[in-house]
Amino acid sequence: MNQTAKIINQAKKENRKALLETEAKTICTEYGIPVTKFNLAKNQKEAAAQADQIGYPVVLKIVSPDIIHKSDAGGVIVNLKTPAEVANGYNKIIENVKKYKPDAKIVGVMVQEMAPQSTEVIVGAIKDPQFGQTIMFGLGGIFVELLKDVNFRVAPITAEDAKEMITRLKAYPLLNGYRNAPPADINALVCILLNTSRLVMDYPEIKELDLNPVMAYPKGAKTVDARIILE
Ligand code: ADP
Ligand code: MG
Repeated sequence: MNQTAKIINQAKKENRKALLETEAKTICTEYGIPVTKFNLAKNQKEAAAQADQIGYPVVLKIVSPDIIHKSDAGGVIVNLKTPAEVANGYNKIIENVKKYKPDAKIVGVMVQEMAPQSTEVIVGAIKDPQFGQTIMFGLGGIFVELLKDVNFRVAPITAEDAKEMITRLKAYPLLNGYRNAPPADINALVCILLNTSRLVMDYPEIKELDLNPVMAYPKGAKTVDARIILE
């Protein structure tokens, strides 16, 4: 059996609706969706060793089935530059999360490559009661939350659909080389949209998927956070 089916079956068996970020990113990788390099650490020493392997700076994040919005719980620390900072960060995250939700089950701490800052985009999928799996694309932050500048298409989508979802945003100029910024790699984003569509069509039990944010680069793109919710 492939990794995706294994992860989804395991979650069902444990009666978990929200997949862990480690699980969601493993699924993304299997579907050709680029994600930041990551590893799961169970203690300070492991975290420091993994950071050495991944390369600095790194990001640490809580991995817990009971914490869905990790930064709200003090469960994300970015830009750690040395093994000592990583070891301290590990303890800090555990401490924050225990304060935020004392009964949260803690699986470990994810050590991640820190993705360089760039234009942030959001890729989503939602299972609409009427239309079924629907794919969403927008720019991160205020563009989605405040301006609602997002495009939807019913899955499965074609490359043409994906391209339109991107180029028909009001904020598209920001991806197309606004002022001095280099243009984003639109094909890389099209590819992520197509692979997301394929994933949710293969697994109708996925109720919600959120890649938020995805860093859009002049060459390539990288998913920094992935969330998958099952029915
Ligand atoms: P949340 O569960 O709160 O959405 P995220 O994983 O999205 O947690 O982390 C919160 C923010 O931290 C992200 O929106 C992003 O700005 C930053 N961040 C998280 N992981 C990384 C990473 N690997 N590289 C760079 N920035 C990151
Ligand atoms: Mg996020």
